[in-house]
Amino acid sequence: MRQPLVAGNWKLNGSLASIEELVGGIKAGLGDVSNAAVAVCPPFVYLSHVRTLLDGAPVALGAQDVADVEAGAYTGEVSAPMLKEMGCEYVIVGHSERRSLYGESDDFTARKFAAARKSGLKPILCVGELLEEREQGVTEKVVARQLDAVIDLEGVGALADGVIAYEPVWAIGTGKTATPEQAQDVHAFIRGRIAERDAAVAEKVQILYGGSMKPDNAAELVGQPDIDGGLIGGASLEAADFLAICKAAG
Ligand code: PEP
Repeated sequence: MRQPLVAGNWKLNGSLASIEELVGGIKAGLGDVSNAAVAVCPPFVYLSHVRTLLDGAPVALGAQDVADVEAGAYTGEVSAPMLKEMGCEYVIVGHSERRSLYGESDDFTARKFAAARKSGLKPILCVGELLEEREQGVTEKVVARQLDAVIDLEGVGALADGVIAYEPVWAIGTGKTATPEQAQDVHAFIRGRIAERDAAVAEKVQILYGGSMKPDNAAELVGQPDIDGGLIGGASLEAADFLAICKAAG
């Protein structure tokens, strides 16, 4: 039985004041969240402060990105050992905004996955197709290519140490959610592709859905057999909305 996970991706949002309010609100409502694991992924600079604010509450800390190397002359980068030292459990890799805005490739994302794993972080590997790719009928091909980059570098067993997030790019921040059937179809495809190589890994790995998940559509999405929770952008910035999704997943 896979435990559901709901992770909030705060992206480039927040201030000391707004984060204190958000974390306070999440902590106050956690009692209603029964069975779901909960994580928040603030911008790097706020990680330490959020850890202090959480003060031992059962909310894991995650980062939004990580360097593919451990140390050295890489101005502006943050390494996996640093994130681990600061109390992170998770790190998002290959988010579509990294892929599209910063040109991060499948191979680069796979190296980030490997770096995270080496330091004992759980990478949340984002995969998903563009709207034109869905319209061309190549969704599975795109998702397979993104997934295979990690499998080719690290072996299929590596996926058991991480989490996968299927995020159709056309649904991110647009208010257009994949239907539960559309999402389930791709989740089942991902699990099936992993199962072809290792059934135990396929059974174990959590596959989250991301893309305009909100309190009013979360229950139906997470009710699908291969959807194990959500990676939440916009709705993770409001404690009440985020908690409602956590509750639906739990
Ligand atoms: C995301 O950025 O990972 C995401 C799912 O965003 P949103 O929920 O805002 O669509």
